[in-house]
Amino acid sequence: MTDRAIHKYDVIVIGAGAGGGVAAALLAEAGKTVLLLERGRRMTFADVGRDHLRNQRLSQHGVNAGPNLADNPRVFVDPQGRSRIIDATDGAYQNNAAAVGGGTQVYGAQAWRYLPDDFRMASKYGVPAGSGLADWPISYEELAPYYERAEWELGVAGDEADAGRNRPRHKEYPMPPLPLNIQGRVLRAGAQALGWDTQHVPLLINSVPRQGRDACAHCQQCVGFACPTDAKNGTHNTMIPRALATGLCTLETEAMTERVIADGAGRATGVVYWNSAGEQITATSEVVVLSGGAVETARLMLNSKTDAHPNGLGNDHDMVGRNFQGHFYAGAVGWMDDSVWDGVGPGPTTATIRFNHDNDGIVGGGMLCDDFIMQPINFVKGSVPRGVPRWGKEHKEWVRHNYTRMLRVFGPVHDIPSPDARISVDPDVRDRWGIPVVRISGATHPETLRVHAFMNARAEEWLRASGAKNIHSDAATLSLSGGQHQAGTCRMGHDPKTSVTDTWGRVHGFDNLYIADGSLHVTNGGFNPVLTILALAFRVAGHIAESW
Ligand SMILES: Cc1cc2nc3c(=O)[nH]c(=O)nc-3n(C[C@H](O)[C@H](O)[C@H](O)COP(=O)(O)OP(=O)(O)OC[C@H]3O[C@@H](n4cnc5c(N)ncnc54)[C@H](O)[C@@H]3O)c2cc1C
Ligand code: SF4
Repeated sequence: MTDRAIHKYDVIVIGAGAGGGVAAALLAEAGKTVLLLERGRRMTFADVGRDHLRNQRLSQHGVNAGPNLADNPRVFVDPQGRSRIIDATDGAYQNNAAAVGGGTQVYGAQAWRYLPDDFRMASKYGVPAGSGLADWPISYEELAPYYERAEWELGVAGDEADAGRNRPRHKEYPMPPLPLNIQGRVLRAGAQALGWDTQHVPLLINSVPRQGRDACAHCQQCVGFACPTDAKNGTHNTMIPRALATGLCTLETEAMTERVIADGAGRATGVVYWNSAGEQITATSEVVVLSGGAVETARLMLNSKTDAHPNGLGNDHDMVGRNFQGHFYAGAVGWMDDSVWDGVGPGPTTATIRFNHDNDGIVGGGMLCDDFIMQPINFVKGSVPRGVPRWGKEHKEWVRHNYTRMLRVFGPVHDIPSPDARISVDPDVRDRWGIPVVRISGATHPETLRVHAFMNARAEEWLRASGAKNIHSDAATLSLSGGQHQAGTCRMGHDPKTSVTDTWGRVHGFDNLYIADGSLHVTNGGFNPVLTILALAFRVAGHIAESW
């Protein structure tokens, strides 16, 4: 392999996912030459496929949006300290996706703004002993204009009356909400009986034709797959095409970045990556933006050791990779006497955010909503009660009778971060390119389990009031919760001793090294995170463009 210095750009963006797609578009539109490096492929609807057994939702037999299983091992350390090598079919891998668009290629597209209190958790609740709970260095009000840009520039369907109630906003959603389905209507009646507020679930999905693409056709395979009408708005069909349309952005796929190159004087000077032909390339730039997602961005920082930074870039205070978090999911399932299924996708239509904060004795809380339409295999795997046979005639009859009678609510609870929930790099194991792999260890803070139990009880209450019977929920145990909602390994803050970047996503001690992805999150809200990741990327990239 040859090491060739052949490319010079204004900006190199690593990772063409949610954050990276936004950064590439804004910087190319600002007149910068951009190299956008993505380790995965550009995927069509047919490439992503419709395999119910192997997809980003049910991954134990394979994934449909990356990464390539053989090339990308990780090491997982269990609570007893035993380590094992794993691939992305293992839940412990904490996978999101590896493709152009990143997770947004196959996501469910729930598009929640965090609440003002989500940015000031430590001030509001105090800091549980041993936790990494902290306030964000920016407020909801500072992020609100960028939430608005994300909602309009990618496209969110939602109900203005619902959204304005809890979060001050200046502009309505660009599209009306998707229709309520039967489950949503039944749950709304249940919530009303309890005196609970409900609202539409905002979705990054076209409810009407928009930006040259069709509206949602209400198919039943939204989450974990691509969209047959291209109505689901990710960066692969919004921001990245915008970046490429400038003629200033080069998107290189199957391009695995090995490390960032930095001098000893606080400047990143470029990156070393492996292209699809297996060549090692050195590219140089004025600015480097890391958008590999919370796990891989931390890995890149740790693998980019220099004489001046022997522990990795931004890691002088051992903060890179710490406070890795995602979401524990709380919820319950119950059974109705009659069918509550009309097959109208995508599925999540009704939510309550009444329990996201101000719950007695609980730090934070969470959102609850009805679920995406579930593939029969996921139904069998997750919802068949104990005592029902798992195969044979009786099993089939049970599924036929009950699939359409299930009522389910669930949602993310606010993780209380732990500094010991951690991404590091393994001293021994290397990937296909010879790069040290991610080592994953630790668990959420125990306080998260109390929030989870509290939210399970609320979910059960909601189902009961909606007429469901034989209601059931599962208790959580201490573990990691990164995965699809991974966040928090390079948190932003004012103090370089307790954070990795400043309030603009710029790595402490560097002039020109930025992060624009979920790793910036100080806490991860009681909501799906992508709209916040997108909003932060608009803020970070807008700032780079304006200050240069
Ligand atoms: C099935 C599924 C459903 C989801 N549903 C929702 C939802 O309803 N709502 C919601 O808010 N969120 C949802 N998510 C999560 C959401 O997609 C993520 O929060 C979001 O994509 C994270 O953005 P990011 O920019 O941090 O990283 P990503 O979008 O993961 O992008 C990172 C990209 O960087 C690339 N990369 C990493 N390392 C390198 C390297 N060294 N060199 C080159 N490229 C690299 C990766 O391949 C990847 O494409 C879902 C995700 C999945 C998979
Ligand atoms: S439910 Fe709608 S947005 Fe989702 S994949 Fe189907 S058509 Fe696309």
